[in-house]
Formats: sequence, structure tokens, C-alpha cells
Amino acid sequence: MKILLVEDEPKTGDYLKQGLCEAGFPTDWVQDGISGSHQALHETYDLIILDVMLPGRSGWEVLQDIRSAGKDMPVLFLTARDEVNDRVRGLEAGADDYLVKPFAFAELLARIRTLLRRERSREPDVLNVADLELDLRTRRATRSHQRIELTAREFALLALLMRRRGEILPRALIASQVWDMNFESDTNVVEVAVRRLRAKIDDPFEPRLIHTVRGMGYTLEEKR
Ligand code: CA
Repeated sequence: MKILLVEDEPKTGDYLKQGLCEAGFPTDWVQDGISGSHQALHETYDLIILDVMLPGRSGWEVLQDIRSAGKDMPVLFLTARDEVNDRVRGLEAGADDYLVKPFAFAELLARIRTLLRRERSREPDVLNVADLELDLRTRRATRSHQRIELTAREFALLALLMRRRGEILPRALIASQVWDMNFESDTNVVEVAVRRLRAKIDDPFEPRLIHTVRGMGYTLEEKR
């Protein structure tokens, strides 16, 4: 769970970042449109909060960059009161919601929770790759119709790999998503967890689904 905040006004940005982190939403904050686009395209975020008037690239352009790269995470615009027409433009351009400045922080939190809930309800309840199946509601995993017992951590790891099947996921990204921490120096914990998961979902079956991409990370897919 991670949010990207693009806001050039230092006081607002600082206040929002701190408030969001305290509310349980780890947040990266950048202060211009170019960094905003770059972060949005190269990192993984569950939601983006985007100011409209930004140096470098405007909020519109950042949104265009995000959507034309095929990224569909929810985007919430922050607009000034005199940018009323801009709101319509933002929603047409693929923003999911907007808030007019100044706004109450509680209102922002409520909007964020709604957007994330909506996003989650779009996700299927069951993930499938080949004969591997993961039911996200009952938290049951099966392969070839055989029940596989997973720890909570293994479940989170497998869900991440299956949601992003075919993508190479760097160890540091896995560490941050599954352990909610940064293991900059010690990604050994990821290797150990992947090995244990493999022993359960891959070793007794054919074909192997979890692949190591040397020097890069792991990917889960059915290779033909
Ligand atoms: Ca601004």
C-alpha cells in the first residue's frame, strides 16, 4: 500500500505527506511534474494525489503520461477554487476524483479510502496461473486441485507474484510490498521466502511457475 503525492507547495506537501503516513498510508512526495511522471511510471503506487499547477509538467500532463503508459491506479486531483473548469477536464482526462483546495484533511482521507475500496472491488476474487489457483477471499491456495497450506507471508508473496504475473519483480520491491519495509541491504529474507514458497507450489508439480531472473528478481508465469 503506497501513495504518490505530487505537490509543489512545500508546506502543503509536507503536511499531507506526514498526515498520510500517520494515517497508515506510506507516501512518497515529489515537488514537480517531471519527477511525478517519473515516479509514477517507474515505481508501484496504489493511488496518486496530483496537484494541477506544477512546475515542469502540469498535473494534466502527468495524468496523460500515467494513463498512456497503461497504468490504471486511481488518481485524485487537487485543484484550486478558481480552476472549476479544470475539474471537468481532469475527470475527462481520466482522473478518478478531485478535491478543491483548501480542504479538510479528513475529507482527503475519506476520498482516498473510497477510491482504494473501489479499486479493490474491481479485483477478481480468484487468481489463476496455469493450474495454480489462489482464492483471495478464503485465502486458499490449490494447485492441480490439491490444497496447499501457506503462511500469511507466503500468501502475500504469492498474491503479489500472481497479481503481477509475467512482470519481473525486484527483490527490494517484493520486500517493500510483502514486509512493508525496506531491505536495501538484506534481501536474503526474500530469497528464503521464495525458496519456501517454491517448495510448496512448484517442486511437487510441473511446470515450474516461479522463475529467477538473474540479477533482477523473480517472475511468476507459465513459460511455454
Ligand atoms: Ca501547485
